[in-house]
Amino acid sequence: MKYDIFISYSRKDTMVADAICKALDRNGITYFIDRKGICGGAEFPAVLADAIIDSELVLFLASRNSYESRFTNKEITFAFNEKPGNSIIPYIIDGSQLPRNLRLVFADINWRNITEHPIDTVLMDDLRTILHIDAKPANAAPAKVDYGILPSGYFITDSCIGCGTCQAECPVEAISEGEIYSIDCDTCIECGSCEMVCPAEAIIRR
Ligand code: SF4
Ligand code: SF4
Repeated sequence: MKYDIFISYSRKDTMVADAICKALDRNGITYFIDRKGICGGAEFPAVLADAIIDSELVLFLASRNSYESRFTNKEITFAFNEKPGNSIIPYIIDGSQLPRNLRLVFADINWRNITEHPIDTVLMDDLRTILHIDAKPANAAPAKVDYGILPSGYFITDSCIGCGTCQAECPVEAISEGEIYSIDCDTCIECGSCEMVCPAEAIIRR
């Protein structure tokens, strides 16, 4: 396998995902994380499908945000159909109830949660055990494998409902149409107009 772990998460949970990435780096565990999100059309990108297939485990950051995310649902459904059930690990990062459509996917799977399985200790120990990585390397070099670095600035999350309001508002035409809209960070002058008009609160600044 090319990666130890594929991280499936909502972009709204980026802070938790980042903490997990840092812990994986410290433990010498390789991973794939999509920093851009699925943009443009509704097609499930081949790069994500390949990364899921090429990963030993799929770590699903389970939260209200990810339950509501069409894109996270696509990743998990794909993983459920293509990989052995015991290779999907749901990791609960808030107290939200699992929605009905995901109950079948996770029916026979052991859940872990951020309270009883803190990221830096129990979760990392669990993952190393499953992956047969015996001990934490003393000076583990970063093992991160990123797909696209999310630049700072304005960013459209997968809450976008595709209404187009932001595009009409942008003074420099930095916003492109898609199932979810996207912002060209090189063109954006960070005026904040799009964030103010978005009815879905889908535009964030980081
Ligand atoms: S912050 Fe301003 S310039 Fe940047 S995408 Fe939004 S409206 Fe356009
Ligand atoms: S205004 Fe918000 S919901 Fe509408 S297209 Fe832009 S980001 Fe998406």
